[in-house]
Amino acid sequence: MANEKDVLVQIRNLYVTYGTRLGSVSAVDDVSFDIYRGEILGLVGESGCGKSTLGKALMRMIKSPGEITGGQVIFNGEDIMEYSDKQMRDFRGRRTSMIFQDPMTSLNPVQRVDEHMIEAIEVHEPKTKKANITDRITSLIERLGIQKRRLTDYPHQLSGGMRQRVMVGLGLVLNAHLIIADEATTSLDVIVEANLVDQLREIRDEFGVTILMITHNIALVAEIADRIAVMYAGRFAEIGPINDVFEDPMHPYTQGLLRSVPSIRLDDQEELYKMPGEPPNLTQPPSGCRFHPRCPQAIPICARIQPELLETKQGRLVNCWLFQDQPEEAAHPIMVTA
Ligand code: SF4
Repeated sequence: MANEKDVLVQIRNLYVTYGTRLGSVSAVDDVSFDIYRGEILGLVGESGCGKSTLGKALMRMIKSPGEITGGQVIFNGEDIMEYSDKQMRDFRGRRTSMIFQDPMTSLNPVQRVDEHMIEAIEVHEPKTKKANITDRITSLIERLGIQKRRLTDYPHQLSGGMRQRVMVGLGLVLNAHLIIADEATTSLDVIVEANLVDQLREIRDEFGVTILMITHNIALVAEIADRIAVMYAGRFAEIGPINDVFEDPMHPYTQGLLRSVPSIRLDDQEELYKMPGEPPNLTQPPSGCRFHPRCPQAIPICARIQPELLETKQGRLVNCWLFQDQPEEAAHPIMVTA
C-alpha cells in the first residue's frame, strides 16, 4: 500500500454544477480530499451521488450543461485548473487515463489495437524510435495477459475483458500516474471481472500507478481498495482505510450502505437493510446535512447546519455532527415564527 503522506492529487473545495430546466444541480458540492500515490481508492455511493462527475472533474472532462464552478485539482503540485487546453491534452494522455464501463466508446472501431498504442506514443513522445515502440507495446500487451498476435485485432474482435485491458494498456504505455476506472467492470461477467481486478492490483504493485476505482459495487471495493470514500448527494460522507470502514462504519449513511450489501456467509442470515427514503433532488438539496431526511440518528442541528468532513479521533474523515463539536448557537435553537 501507498505511503499515506505521499499525496499525488489534492482536491480542494471542488464544485460541479449542471444547469437544467428545473434549476441548477450541485452534483459535486465543496469536495476536498487527497489521493495518495500508489494507492487504490474506491469511490462508492448510490447512482446520482456525483461519483462519476467527480472522476470526470479530476480530468476536466465535464461537458455542458455541466461546469466546474470552483475549486482546485492539484496534481503533482500543479493546479490543473490553470492549465491551457494544450497542457490538458498532454495531461489526459500522459499522466492520467480513464476507463469507462463501455470501452467501445473510447476505442476507435476502425483502428487496430497496435495502432491505438502507436498513435498514443507518437503523439505524446514523438522522439521515440519505431523499434522501441514495437518492443514497448508488445511486452506491455503480453504483461496484460493478451497474446501479441491480438495486437492486429480491431476492438470488435476482442472480448469485453480484453478491451478493458487494452484501455489499461493505453494508460500504462505512457506511464500514466493515475488511472480512473469508472464502473469499468460493470458490464463484465464475474470471472472476467475478478481477473481484471486481480490485474489492476498487480499493475499497481508493479508499476506504482495510482488507481481511483469508481463503482457502485461495494464488494469489489472491499476486495481491491486500500481506502474507501463514500459519497452521498455530492458530498463525502466518510473516507478511511478499507478494513476500518468495513469493520466499524461511522457515518450513518455508510452504516446503512454496508448493511444493505448481501453477505455470502451462510451463518449470516440477517435480513438486508433497506435505506429509508430516496436520494434528494439536487436542484433543491435538503438544508444542513443532506442526509438528514433519511438519517435514523439525526439530531436537531442536522437539519440546520452542514457538518464538515473532519478527522475523527480514530483517524477517519467523517462528515457528521455525531463526531464533531456543535457550534454554540446550536445549543439555543433559533425560534421560527410564522
Ligand atoms: Fe445523520 Fe446528522 Fe450525521 Fe447527517 S449529520 S449523518 S443527519 S447524524
